[in-house]
This record gives sequence, C-alpha cells and structure tokens, in this order.
Amino acid sequence: VHLCLDNEKDVYYRRAKEVGFRARSAFKLIQLDQQFRLLEGVKRAVDLCAAPGSWSQVLSRRLQAHKDKTAKIVAVDLQPMAPIQGVIQIQGDITNQDTATEIIKHFDGEKADIVISDGAPDASILLFVYVCVCVCVILLLLLSIVENKKGGTFIAKIFRGRDIGLLYEKLQIFFTEIVVAKPKSSRNSSIEAFVVCRDYSPPRDYVPTMAPILFNEKSHMDNDQSNGLYRYTIQFVACGDQSSYDADSSYPLQYEHDDNLGANEDNENENDDADEFMNDDEFLHLFVRLFYVLCFKYKDDIGGDNQ
Ligand code: SAM
Repeated sequence: VHLCLDNEKDVYYRRAKEVGFRARSAFKLIQLDQQFRLLEGVKRAVDLCAAPGSWSQVLSRRLQAHKDKTAKIVAVDLQPMAPIQGVIQIQGDITNQDTATEIIKHFDGEKADIVISDGAPDASILLFVYVCVCVCVILLLLLSIVENKKGGTFIAKIFRGRDIGLLYEKLQIFFTEIVVAKPKSSRNSSIEAFVVCRDYSPPRDYVPTMAPILFNEKSHMDNDQSNGLYRYTIQFVACGDQSSYDADSSYPLQYEHDDNLGANEDNENENDDADEFMNDDEFLHLFVRLFYVLCFKYKDDIGGDNQ
C-alpha cells in the first residue's frame, strides 16, 4: 500500500528538489539522453523554451560548462530565467527572426550540435495550429543554426494529435533518423512525447528560412509523397529502463545519492532517513492490522451501540 501523493508532487518532482533541478522536466531529458546517448560529444547546444531552466541545468552539468571553455549553451525563453553556470540566456520569442539572429551570433560562425525544445503551446492556441506553425518554426530555427552541418540532433516536445503525421513528414526531409520517444518521467496521462531527430542532412539546395514550409507546394524537396496523406509511421520508443520510477505511481519517501545527476553534497546526510526503523508501508500495514484486531476484540460492544 502506498500513500497517495499530490499528483503534481510525484517522485520526479521530489527527486528534482533533492538534486537541485528547477523542474521535474529535467528527468525527461536525462532519460532521453540515457536511451539515445544524445549528449555524448556535444559541445554546442541550444535550449529553446528553456525557462525555468532544468534542461539547461542538465546541459550545463553534462557538458561540464563550468570548466570546459569550449562548451557553449544558449537558452531562450519568453520569460526571464535565473542564471545557470555556463549558459548564455536570451529573453525572446523563438518564432521571431531577431531571436534566431541573436542565437546564431553567439555561436561565432560555428554550428550547434544539438537543438532541444520543450516548448508548450499557449492553452488558447489550437493544437493543430501549434503543431503546424510553432513546431515547424522551431525546426526552421534549428536549420538556420546547423546549416550545412551534417549530423545535428533535434529534440522537440510534441503532442501526438491526429495531424502529427504532417510534422513527421516534414521532419523526414531533413533528418535521416526520426523516433518518437516517451520518457518514463512523462506522465502516461499526457499526450506529450518527444520527437528525436538525428543526422541532420537537409536537401542540397535548401536555404534556411523562418517562413513556414508547411503550406508551400512541394516544399524544398522532391518528395512526391507530400500529397496530403501524412501517413508516415515513426518508431515509438518508451524510454527509461523498467526499473526506473513511473511518473504515474506514488512511492514511499527514500533518498539515494545519484552521481550522474550531480546531486548536491548536502543531500548525503539525508540517506540516514532510509535507515529509520519503519517505513511508511510498514507503518500503514501495522496500523491496519491493529485496527482489525481491535474491531474483532470489541465487536460485541460495537454491535451493541448499533442496536
Ligand atoms: N524545459 C524547461 C525546463 O526544463 O525548465 C521547461 C519549459 S516550459 C514546459 C515551456 C516554456 O516555453 C515556458 O517557459 C514558455 O515561456 C516557453 N515558450 C512558449 N512559447 C515560447 C516562444 N514562442 N518563445 C520562447 N519561449 C516560449
């Protein structure tokens, strides 16, 4: 029996607090990285829709931005963010050409190895409009950054709606490998997933632009399949190994040190709590047994009251 916890404050929320991440979303990127080794060898990264900054924190720790001077991380959001070591922050709209220009300026002529986006559409924007315009503009921003650079990676949050095939179709023009992944820390109840696109290889004559390619006829490619059917099948991967926490379950409190997360040293003392004489489950179990014993012992009295 597990104690029910507030849905918002699940195990990933608590782990994020323990290891100093600003949001539980950090674990989504960590699990995507564990599954696909996305951050291996990455030196330059762009984090779109980055606030409050937990993905940038993961990037900063993985790229060792505090000591590796060759690492460059640029984070963009409409909202201001508290500083993160080794992360250049831009407050701006990612769909704006000026923001794209500013990001590119920070790379001093170099191209990004990876662009990640955890953007969530405004609730007032129709899902279809978001998928069609916002995500594709994010994609185009990526293209302007990694122009001519083969092998770049793009990860973006998507919502698997009816028309998501439209997005897959466009992505397939630019990447040789596309997978849709659902990290274990992403709640089952959410239609959110992440499209993981690897090996950026745009058509030879492709000119990066912020203008949506979606409604262009035969946009930039010889792709006779773009005739409105959008029936692309993309491999779906559930990631985070089976022993990792499930975002929709509740767990008794426990503390463990995880070196990979760069946990604060202060948390080490909290391991002492794991040795307490009885955990929540055992206590609840004992309580229920005691209750039944008392009910049995005083059943006559209880019955008497009812008469
Ligand atoms: N990945 C972040 C983290 O781990 O802390 C969480 C991102 S949060 C789910 C989505 C963010 O997208 C919000 O901070 C919001 O301000 C930002 N956003 C939405 N539309 C945007 C846009 N057009 N330009 C820049 N940021 C945007």
